[in-house]
Amino acid sequence: MSDQRMCKALIIGGSLGGLFTATALRAIGWQVEVYERSPATLDSRGGGIVLQHEVIEAFKFSGIKPTQALGVRSNHRTYLDRFGGILHKQHAPQTQTSWNTLYSNLLNALPEENYHRGKKLIGLEQHENGVTANFEDGTTADGDILIGADGGGSTVRSLVLPGVNPAYSGYVVWRGLLNESDLPKAAKDQIYEDFVFQQDPESLMLEYMVPGADGSIAVGERRFNWLWYLKAAPGAELDAVMTDNMGRQRESSIPPGAMAKSQDEAFRKMAGERINPAFLELIQRTDEIFVQSILDLKVAQMVFNRVILVGDAAFIPRPHTAGSTAKAAANAVTLAKVLANRSNIDEGLRLWEKHQLNEGNIMSDWGIDMGNRIMGIGK
Ligand SMILES: Cc1cc2nc3c(=O)[nH]c(=O)nc-3n(C[C@H](O)[C@H](O)[C@H](O)COP(=O)(O)OP(=O)(O)OC[C@H]3O[C@@H](n4cnc5c(N)ncnc54)[C@H](O)[C@@H]3O)c2cc1C
Repeated sequence: MSDQRMCKALIIGGSLGGLFTATALRAIGWQVEVYERSPATLDSRGGGIVLQHEVIEAFKFSGIKPTQALGVRSNHRTYLDRFGGILHKQHAPQTQTSWNTLYSNLLNALPEENYHRGKKLIGLEQHENGVTANFEDGTTADGDILIGADGGGSTVRSLVLPGVNPAYSGYVVWRGLLNESDLPKAAKDQIYEDFVFQQDPESLMLEYMVPGADGSIAVGERRFNWLWYLKAAPGAELDAVMTDNMGRQRESSIPPGAMAKSQDEAFRKMAGERINPAFLELIQRTDEIFVQSILDLKVAQMVFNRVILVGDAAFIPRPHTAGSTAKAAANAVTLAKVLANRSNIDEGLRLWEKHQLNEGNIMSDWGIDMGNRIMGIGK
């Protein structure tokens, strides 16, 4: 092993992108320090993530051995009509995991002393062969590289690419999770262990099963994860959706438990008019429905000398690609591989950027095309 053992990465953001990067760089002998602005353990706003091979690869690369299976298998892809009739059913096995399951496995793989909570990055300075990070609490940290894994609203991106921000796509997703044991038998029989859709003009609802909140994949302890994509026109309509139960206008999501009563009631009423009986049970029995606006983000550059952007800080693909988490995992593993094979960090970063920019653009463009077709946008 060369002098790479001494290299140090400052990773801003301690969600999946930051943790994939931290665990992958540790696997090649780098010192990593993760700085997460949230003072508490992150808690899933959402739930379901399709388990892509990039995530499995990242776990293998970093030597993470989960104590139990990471996800729940679904057997078929089934399309239902408004009344619950089967329009199409095909054998298409795949595995779905949850944000919590990935997060807890990654976090457990990182020594506690390398994960710093309550550390909000507010500035950075680049100097020859290194970067200094400045935090809101007045402290600083020095490293060979600084990695912006701080999500769609990235502070790091605002410092290196001012003015480049996510753009609203024209639709939102309403979401919920329901314990397997809370769904009545008739509904469960129709959607059990399958990936099920109801596609209508300008509307797509789907569901699949994910591990329980504690990661359990035991029958009876899992959850149904559902999503309903609907248009919301920018302006008054979107503003109403993004106003929480305290009357506060939120930027791009209303977390579980914070939805305004009037929005919650209007949504459930609309579901009664438009959604098949099994899906309607999912919605009506979900206590805390939440909503997120669907955003697009692409960057033209991911490397800025010794500062780089990964995960959602660089590209936010549409969720129909099921690729956001996989992309964050791929960003991390490819970065570790180029750095492991080179004594020259800058050369490695240039090579990495070329490939990852291309991958990000392909996934984003594909997602925008697919999402717009599904939602009847730009026809
Ligand atoms: C709590 C949480 C729950 C999620 N649940 C789901 C889910 O159920 N399903 C799904 O598909 N996706 C979910 N996501 C999104 C998913 O993690 C990402 O789309 C994808 O994995 C890429 O992640 P990321 O780490 O690049 O960005 P993000 O997951 O957005 O993480 C960015 C992190 O950076 C931190 N951060 C931001 N600014 C600063 C700063 N200035 N200083 C320090 N830290 C900062 C944030 O607090 C956050 O933890 C969730 C994200 C979070 C944060």
